[in-house]
Amino acid sequence: MTSNPNAWTVNFASDNVAGAAPEIMAALQEASTGFAMPYGNDDLTEAFRRRTMEIFETDLVAHPVATGTAANSLALSVLSPPYGVVFCHEGAHIEEDECAAPEFYIGGGKLTLLAGDNGKFSAETLANKLGDPSAASAVHHAQPAAVSISQLTEKGTAYSLDEIRAIADVAHAHGLKLHMDGARFTNAMLSLGCSPAEATWKAGVDALSFGATKNGAFAAEAVIFFDPQAAKDFEFRRKRGGHLFSKMRFLSAQL
Ligand SMILES: *Cc1c(COP(=O)(O)O)cnc(C)c1O
Repeated sequence: MTSNPNAWTVNFASDNVAGAAPEIMAALQEASTGFAMPYGNDDLTEAFRRRTMEIFETDLVAHPVATGTAANSLALSVLSPPYGVVFCHEGAHIEEDECAAPEFYIGGGKLTLLAGDNGKFSAETLANKLGDPSAASAVHHAQPAAVSISQLTEKGTAYSLDEIRAIADVAHAHGLKLHMDGARFTNAMLSLGCSPAEATWKAGVDALSFGATKNGAFAAEAVIFFDPQAAKDFEFRRKRGGHLFSKMRFLSAQL
């Protein structure tokens, strides 16, 4: 397979058909020398946390996990109670490609799907759905808890900063948190030509699944909460979900 590199020069199956970047393999090799404390109490994880704060220009909580499904599901489990509703696009990865892991990790939560062209839904569509009496706070209904957008979307399109801000405003006006599935976050940021801060918390994003696997890592994603207070439960949920890696330094080294 790897003996003929040309066979892999162009492969549009997905970005995870590519190998790991040489820098990632070098970082893993380097992380493998000597000893380090387990479960994230190591220098590389500390450096990752510090660097993430620098890059996003704010106080935040950042935790490495190994898959995007874990990142999304664990992030949403913190943002929604078991009786909560997460609004997302009908083609969202959390709806179509995660084997109901978000609902499982939330503890029974419900995804409510929104339509929209090119993998995106609009603030207006969200507002109309939330305005529907069936989504009101009566005891009979699951309770609106969070909104999730994918950036880039599953169709390869990007939400503009104005579109994100408009969705965030509707979400926040109804007391909901905004999650961003950023499996391809850096691609989106580069195509928008904005900073990580502008692409997220400055536009109203509360939590980000930050993808690295599709950008050359071997197996590393991060969950980032821009409100450290909102991240209180995360560590228990991650451990319970089997995503607290004892040799965390190898995830952090990639990030
Ligand atoms: C690839 C991808 C993920 C993560 O998938 P895993 O296989 O769980 O790592 C999440 N969201 C989107 C939009 C993706 O394309």
